[in-house]
Amino acid sequence: MKRQRLKIVVRGAVQGVGFRPFVYRLATELDLKGWVINSAQGVFLEIEGAPDATAEFARRLHTNKPTRAIIQSCESSHLETVGYKEFEIRESTDAGGKTALILPDIAPCADCLSEMIDPRDRRFRYPFTNCTNCGPRFSIIEALPYDRTNTSMKQFAMCADCEREYRDPADRRFHAEPIACPRCGPQLQYWDSLGKSLANSEAALQQAFDEIRAGKIVALKGVGGFQLLVDARNADAVRLLRARKHRQEKPFAVMFPSIEQIHAQCEVSALEERLLVSPEAPIVLLRKSTTGSQSSAAAPGNPNLGVMLPSSPLHHLLLRQLNFPVVATSGNLSEEPICIDESEAIERLRGIADGLLVHNRPIVRHVDDSILRVLHGREMMLRRARGYAPLPVTLERSLPAILAVGAHLKNSVALSVGRNVFVSQHIGDLATRQAYDAFTQSAADLPRLYDAEPELIAHDLHPEYLSTKHALQQPARAVAVQHHWAHIASCMAENEIEPPLLGVAWDGTGYGVDGTTWGGEFFLVEKNSCRRVAHFRTFRLPGGDAAVREPRRSSLGMLYEIFGEELCERKEWRAHFLAGEVKTLRRMLTRAVNSPLTSSVGRLFDGVAALAGLRSHSTFEGQAAMELEFAVDCATTESYPFLLKLGSPLVIDWEPALRALLDDRNQQVPTGQIAARFHNMLAEVIVALARHCGQTRVALSGGCFQNRYLTERVIDELSAVGFQPFWPQRIPPNDGGISLGQIYLATSPLRELT
Ligand code: ZN
Ligand code: ZN
Ligand code: FE
Repeated sequence: MKRQRLKIVVRGAVQGVGFRPFVYRLATELDLKGWVINSAQGVFLEIEGAPDATAEFARRLHTNKPTRAIIQSCESSHLETVGYKEFEIRESTDAGGKTALILPDIAPCADCLSEMIDPRDRRFRYPFTNCTNCGPRFSIIEALPYDRTNTSMKQFAMCADCEREYRDPADRRFHAEPIACPRCGPQLQYWDSLGKSLANSEAALQQAFDEIRAGKIVALKGVGGFQLLVDARNADAVRLLRARKHRQEKPFAVMFPSIEQIHAQCEVSALEERLLVSPEAPIVLLRKSTTGSQSSAAAPGNPNLGVMLPSSPLHHLLLRQLNFPVVATSGNLSEEPICIDESEAIERLRGIADGLLVHNRPIVRHVDDSILRVLHGREMMLRRARGYAPLPVTLERSLPAILAVGAHLKNSVALSVGRNVFVSQHIGDLATRQAYDAFTQSAADLPRLYDAEPELIAHDLHPEYLSTKHALQQPARAVAVQHHWAHIASCMAENEIEPPLLGVAWDGTGYGVDGTTWGGEFFLVEKNSCRRVAHFRTFRLPGGDAAVREPRRSSLGMLYEIFGEELCERKEWRAHFLAGEVKTLRRMLTRAVNSPLTSSVGRLFDGVAALAGLRSHSTFEGQAAMELEFAVDCATTESYPFLLKLGSPLVIDWEPALRALLDDRNQQVPTGQIAARFHNMLAEVIVALARHCGQTRVALSGGCFQNRYLTERVIDELSAVGFQPFWPQRIPPNDGGISLGQIYLATSPLRELT
């Protein structure tokens, strides 16, 4: 059995409680090699050994830990094996430097939860209870050092009891900065949709409970912003929320009162369960079970469901009483950032929420719920925010202060301080005013928090991205980083891999150095250079950006690329267009106006989904590609043919695949087989390119690798023939990971593609 190496960073009350000897005993018992070290940044450890043993170690790290140890955050990544010979406790150093860490917001600990349900406790049913081991952090911090006066709790004067706990070194709340109780801390109110207060404290909670049970939509001021809650079992109520939020089909996440109720609706692996109950309390994408009775309204036509457990004392109180799952989605109109302030909520959620459950603890910055999935037995971050941001990625080398402003969609920003790269919380698509404001705030916020003055500001190569324009207005020197190269660099940074390697970056869209739209790219990364060695055959997208919402346009562009003027004699387009529409679009194509060339695999997915008869219009980005993934018939092992056209760069020609697909459609081959053949072809393309380039290591990144079937197949096929695949784990493969890649390359001689 192949060995595995797992790196784990544990933060919390783990120092001075016998944690290192515990790790040593556990590792030796399981015959694992590696090391453990204490640092100002937490306990870092690496284990290497049989996969079963590493998994068992990761499990027992939580279940068997010393009684006084409390884990607030635990991040693990699989790394390339190095062949450790023994397990050692290493001398404490300052890995990552002495930079103060800001912890993420953490779900309530077991002690706080038990006090909250104890009628004799003075914090009985108090929704803002917390201690040194749990509670809000990043969402309430205004500045460092982390003192109460530097948080949004400064407006609450501690009562004598809280003050005593806060000063007592033996107390669980010794220096718990957000310490609070019903006498001195924040309070709940229930408001009608116009902002009129209807009830206070316990009565407010009761009213929210009644409204949700009656099928109403309640906006709840959570940890990092407003969420909209509605009874997940009530299909009409969920539909109403969709209509009001202008979110037709995009899946909603569901919050369950207990892990048992999740088990009743979804398939949950041991790792998925551990993630759900973790202090980070993220949304985990699970497969719906066939026996579950879950209403399909939350995630229509989707075999998966994003689920989470209560992540704050307030959520615990509410969900415990409801005892049924609720849809919990960001309090915003689609595509806008989550709103954090009551008066803003009244304005922006008018017409969406029937009432608001609010409180008077200000939220300093918005932090959405994080989203993870398990892929190939490992975590994959899809949206990094609450519970994880702003924990750093620690690099092997020290960097000057660099600010990276990320991409345009799923924006995040990042800042390097020494060896640490602090990646901001998910900010979102910079298409709206609100999102742009949130972006400029975060870009100013990170350097201010860490007292850094960026020498360099790294941005995308796309001249029209608002993030690029913002970067160019700053006093620091600006450096441009190509989008797909940044995707690969992000994957290299977190997987701690050095060249040489083959980078495979597939996504929807990104600006290429030749001015065309890239998205199906292969990079040969060597010690001193990075070269785009291959890409997919390009085709025109009639209408440009409009194609993102209309997969049928991608299909038309693909057909035009192959059949040219004979296009109109083909019948494939008739299912999707009126004759008049084709006339206009054909004119765009023949004259090459407003129809940019693209090598995007994301658009190829769209085109194939349209040709397979799945979808001609999308209501959200990536919908058609997702449906093509869900359609895959796993029993189909064959794949479509493709050609490699040698040259520099080499071109992957999908024409044979398209022709075979059209034949399949003519012969009424089931969609599941068509979808599978297309996915299988893509996996074969990667293996063929890895062979062609003679690189053992292959780094995969870009939004396309959120596709579980594709990514698992690529990993399996590469591994089966001796290649070593790497893929994103802690940092998203989508554009949320771009900022890390920009930082990684900003000062590197590899930055410019050759
Ligand atoms: Zn606690
Ligand atoms: Zn108090
Ligand atoms: Fe991208």
